[in-house]
Amino acid sequence: MMKDISTILIVDDLRSNIIAITLLFKQCKECNSYRIVTAESGQEALEMTRRHKVDLILLDIMMPQMDGYEVCKHLKANDETKNIPIIFITGHSDDASLEKAYEAGASDYVTKPFRAVELLARVKINLQLYRTINALEHMANYDIMTDIYNRRKFFELAIPMFEECRDDLYAVMLDIDKFKSINDAYGHAVGDMVIKQVAKILKEKTDKEMLLARIGGEEFVLLLYSNSDDEVVTIVESIRKSIEAMEIVVKENQTLHCTISSGIARYTYTMPTIDYLLEKADYALYEAKNSGRNKSIFRV
Ligand SMILES: [Mg+2]
Repeated sequence: MMKDISTILIVDDLRSNIIAITLLFKQCKECNSYRIVTAESGQEALEMTRRHKVDLILLDIMMPQMDGYEVCKHLKANDETKNIPIIFITGHSDDASLEKAYEAGASDYVTKPFRAVELLARVKINLQLYRTINALEHMANYDIMTDIYNRRKFFELAIPMFEECRDDLYAVMLDIDKFKSINDAYGHAVGDMVIKQVAKILKEKTDKEMLLARIGGEEFVLLLYSNSDDEVVTIVESIRKSIEAMEIVVKENQTLHCTISSGIARYTYTMPTIDYLLEKADYALYEAKNSGRNKSIFRV
């Protein structure tokens, strides 16, 4: 397995300090899994976090123009960077400086002159913690099998969308046809493969502005904005056709095809909660199933 490389950003206005810390990482054996990037000002540090996927920051406090506290506040205010652990490195060890650093959002604090073993240990433990938090967040939000949003995350994001009361909001319920028969005929491993393949097409056929999730066993939901009913139907029909055309290899010389049915509904002001919108889409899905499957039905 490829080793995870962590990117560490070293920020200091003094080039000699950056060199000293970089050397320290180079001398440490287990640090070959670290990639070092550097910045010599606060502005440059923010720029680096936009350009690179940074996993940890060693941040000097005393810098001209933008100091470490300010850099930290900027990073904490941005969703993309707010979880990156920040270790302050500073000559000040007084209580007030320490308090100010933690208030700004620091994860840790190392005073100069620091001991190499201490700095490396703090880097290691903060990286481990960061990775664990990211893994837990991923598990809480994504469906493990398909790597798209799970039911819990769907509602977390869908409710605020619904509460904007926009009448260009559409819900689509998509369900794999006769999924139980696939499981019965080929076994659950193949059933899982079908779900993964369908999810893959759904990902390819939708864009980032749309909210896609696996809401149940073989059921998916899509929430999107559109200016026309026709456009939504076209998108859903394109998904349906792609899935119909897809060939799933079960084993050597054996392939299977699957189809999906969809129910589409549009928001109306008479719907008090999102459940009403989803129920309407569900009802259209039920109609699609009962009138032959492999089709999309739209209910205004
Ligand atoms: Mg400095």
